[in-house]
Amino acid sequence: MHPVGPTRGSVLVVGAGIIGLAAAWRLAEQGHPVTLVDPAFAIQKPTMASGSQAALGVMMAQVFHRSAGRAWRLRQQSQALWVQWLAELEQRGYRLPHRRGLLLLAASEDDLSKQARIAGDRARLGQTVRLISPRELDLLHPQLPGQPLGGLFSPEDGQLDPGAVMAAMLSEAKRAGVVCLAGKAVAVVRHRPWQLVLEGHRHLEADWLVLALGLGTAALLASLGLVLDLEPVLGQALELELASAPHWSWPGVVVWRGMNLVPRPDLGDQGRRLWLGATLEPGARLDAAALASLRQLGGEAPSWLKEAEVVRHWNGLRCHPRGQAAPVLEEPEPGLLIASGHYRNGVLLAPATAAWICGRIQGIHESQQKPCIG
Ligand SMILES: Cc1cc2nc3c(=O)[nH]c(=O)nc-3n(C[C@H](O)[C@H](O)[C@H](O)COP(=O)(O)OP(=O)(O)OC[C@H]3O[C@@H](n4cnc5c(N)ncnc54)[C@H](O)[C@@H]3O)c2cc1C
Repeated sequence: MHPVGPTRGSVLVVGAGIIGLAAAWRLAEQGHPVTLVDPAFAIQKPTMASGSQAALGVMMAQVFHRSAGRAWRLRQQSQALWVQWLAELEQRGYRLPHRRGLLLLAASEDDLSKQARIAGDRARLGQTVRLISPRELDLLHPQLPGQPLGGLFSPEDGQLDPGAVMAAMLSEAKRAGVVCLAGKAVAVVRHRPWQLVLEGHRHLEADWLVLALGLGTAALLASLGLVLDLEPVLGQALELELASAPHWSWPGVVVWRGMNLVPRPDLGDQGRRLWLGATLEPGARLDAAALASLRQLGGEAPSWLKEAEVVRHWNGLRCHPRGQAAPVLEEPEPGLLIASGHYRNGVLLAPATAAWICGRIQGIHESQQKPCIG
């Protein structure tokens, strides 16, 4: 049910990746008339071109090197909101594969000292992050990659299936009244209300315009004479099927030298599926060598992983802001919101981003902002 009260401002959300979807859903639940525009609505099966369709859904809020500042706050807020959002969506009947627990392995003395510092910082904040000894790591099954010197375990971090969550958010957004429109935005006109020009000379109007087009955001801003420097960083990932079903005793997702190993027992085949990703390739061109290195975990894959069969390979583009911190959450002109440049953490940061957007539209500033819960 929408809250009773004065008419809420209309909102046009451009881009239906995880950021635009999350924002559209929460705004509609708050009673705003929302239109969500994306060319992908014209296609039955969206391509992997959007970052969100390619993401592994790994969420690292606690094992983060900072313990203060904007990035830290956004991560903490998002983590708390994800717990609420998943519970809320599951209560509404959606099946959303997710797992808690993340083990960050230390590959060097430098990693070890960073992990010790993070563990100390979290302990001071009363949070549960634990250092794991090499002896404990040796007991885990199947065998971990490389020869880790230790590890940092976070029970609060983990992973969710971005595809399942996005499908649930889209369906809840529609239920809350969001109008989904297939179209490619080509320009913005400075006008009251804001005007969005779509390919084919169609125009849309709204009190608020949210630009959540990932890499496409720069071109739309350019139509207003505004500059945002965004660059693509390609990522490739693999789904593997193991030769036999291991008795997983990993405490969650494992991260080794920046590569994520995500057991996917929910994908069937008696727990034999695993996601492996993702490469970091500057630009938008596929690099076969980067994929080969990922497949072999840089030459440190244990035998059970080497023997696994690749059953799916995909890629997508991340949106990296040049010269400023990710993500870009800005209101360059009244009523125009930029929610882009989430780079490697768009899945993790979707709830905090939606909360920032809701807060802006409701006139609440970041410092006093309450989570945007429907
Ligand atoms: C391989 C890979 C693995 C990743 N793993 C993780 C992970 O484990 N955890 C994590 O938190 N993040 C991860 N990420 C990063 C994450 O995917 C992104 O940060 C996130 O998806 C960004 O979402 P978005 O909605 O801003 O952009 P996108 O998902 O790129 O969505 C932008 C949308 O805008 C639409 N659009 C573009 N142009 C226009 C236009 N002109 N008009 C209208 N619509 C338009 C597109 O069709 C698209 O649907 C990964 C990324 C990759 C590539």
